[in-house]
Amino acid sequence: MRIGVAAIQGDFERHQRVLTKLNIETIPVRNPVQLRDCHALIIPGGESTTLIKLFKANQLFNEIKKFAQKKAIMGTCAGLIVLANKIYNPPLESLQLIDIEVTRNAYGRQVDSFVDNIRLNLYGKEVQFEGVFIRAPKIKSTGQGVEPIGYLQNNVVMAETSHILVSTFHPELTDDPRIHEYFIEKAKGILK
Ligand code: GLN
Repeated sequence: MRIGVAAIQGDFERHQRVLTKLNIETIPVRNPVQLRDCHALIIPGGESTTLIKLFKANQLFNEIKKFAQKKAIMGTCAGLIVLANKIYNPPLESLQLIDIEVTRNAYGRQVDSFVDNIRLNLYGKEVQFEGVFIRAPKIKSTGQGVEPIGYLQNNVVMAETSHILVSTFHPELTDDPRIHEYFIEKAKGILK
């Protein structure tokens, strides 16, 4: 199993480090040829406007949409934003691969970044996880086929469909690989 990490912009090395620790082969993805070599993809945090612009410039925008029909994709923070069906603050074109509406930078300037305990539902079991939020978006609504699986108070902070897993926080910034492990299992399940 080889998992690509979109290495166009942002926080991709941290994701690669977690995958390597879990003995998963990983490559940085900067073009469609590299993407085709992968069994799953992670889109990291960064700046969603820049990510979209550079996905287009590098012919990755449509390739990622195609990729999602057969393989798993995880998006964290800006990665979640670019996967969403609809983006606010401001509106932005997106990959529209998961039926959620998101508001960018939704916690306001005063609380730019924070760490808080979140509740996850992994394999039907409720567990705690340390959520690192950096200029994080909020999920305004989830549509059909989208399962909320992480909460900070009453806000949904993690959700999934059959092929997509998204979080508004940064699981790669904690020393806790459970979310990456969950994604690896999801990706394997799809390939079977
Ligand atoms: N605020 C960024 C955006 O809107 C996301 C921040 C992040 O990925 N940590 O794209």
